[in-house]
Amino acid sequence: MTGHQEMSIFDSDQLAACVQCGFCLSSCPTYEVTHLEEHGPRGRILAMRLADQGELPLTDPALTDSLETCVQCRACEEVCPSLVEFGSLMETARAQLHEQQPPTGIRRLAHAVGFAALGRRALVRLASLGLAVAQLLRLDRVLPDQLRPARRVRIRDVLRRYRTPAGRAPRGEAFVFRGCVMDGMFRDVHQATVDVLAAVGYRPRVEPAPACCGALSAHSGREDEAHAFAQATIAAYADTHGPIVVDAAGCGGAMKEYGTLLGTPQARAFSARVKDLSEVVDAADVAARGRSVPLTYAYQAPCHLRNVQGLADTSLELLQAIPGLTLLEPDDGQLCCGSGGIYSLEQPGFGDELLARKDASLDRTGARAVVSGNPGCAMQIARAGWEVHHPAQLLARALRD
Ligand code: SF4
Ligand code: SF4
Repeated sequence: MTGHQEMSIFDSDQLAACVQCGFCLSSCPTYEVTHLEEHGPRGRILAMRLADQGELPLTDPALTDSLETCVQCRACEEVCPSLVEFGSLMETARAQLHEQQPPTGIRRLAHAVGFAALGRRALVRLASLGLAVAQLLRLDRVLPDQLRPARRVRIRDVLRRYRTPAGRAPRGEAFVFRGCVMDGMFRDVHQATVDVLAAVGYRPRVEPAPACCGALSAHSGREDEAHAFAQATIAAYADTHGPIVVDAAGCGGAMKEYGTLLGTPQARAFSARVKDLSEVVDAADVAARGRSVPLTYAYQAPCHLRNVQGLADTSLELLQAIPGLTLLEPDDGQLCCGSGGIYSLEQPGFGDELLARKDASLDRTGARAVVSGNPGCAMQIARAGWEVHHPAQLLARALRD
């Protein structure tokens, strides 16, 4: 016993809201791996309570393990009958851990370099170009499996300039949020998003281009950095009007929560402008005039599209409207693939086990390729040998002239 602390670390109402019913356990990917209470949401909330009441420090190894092994997929939040805001509790826990027990050694160096690069577009592009060259020369094979991105990055994609058609635009301007990793390694996906927006009557814009949404910083407990990225992103779009379309589900989820993160009217107004493609493209329109895409894919909704944005079904319905396209859902579609931003690097044991389970369930669908709308999920699933496409790429193929 360390004695009671004077100040609460966590939102006490949220901690009290958990009635320990356990309805969330079977939706938790890490609990499904070990079946240990400390690796499930209920045990993690108990760990937060112990720290909040001063029974144990947050840095106690048992509590730290419980909290750091959470992949922050928020599947527990989706099924909780008491509406516990688990994501917000976990971000507080991570921020506290980051403050009380910051990374050391090689992890500290990797965080310092990696997070500094996220805020610098030129560095992300340079790194992406370096990766493309290394893959071309097969030099990336010397890297350990965990550090070797499975996505094939092509030099021409990294150097690609976005084509933004200027024709008739009855729906006005729409802004494609380019982000950091997506702008370096997934320019082909952004171009597909641009093409889809143009095809459904928007004038797509790829500027302004703020550096990063801050989602990775928030998930890693780098609270001040996450706030700074959010404020810079909001400021960048201050003089614009129209939807901000985000084709990375994790970024979209984070940007839709800027209002909660910053608590200002400007942040709430900004969040209301943030949209997934499935919110600005009409499924009936796609069904009526889309060209046939006679392919079969397994559909894996990213956790932050399903559990944070609540759009897994909407996105699926939009894709199902594409003539000729067959979509097959894995039997564990609600379970995380183990990507979780940098989780698969920080927790390789859980990350690899969750990927192996996802690989098996995708295999059971009988499909040969996967459609999923988040860069982290795409790269994680590709590690298991899958070809992964983004919903925007299938929609662009159906709607391009
Ligand atoms: S988080 Fe919600 S579902 Fe899980 S144990 Fe607590 S009250 Fe029950
Ligand atoms: S966020 Fe995901 S991994 Fe973390 S406790 Fe909830 S369900 Fe489990």
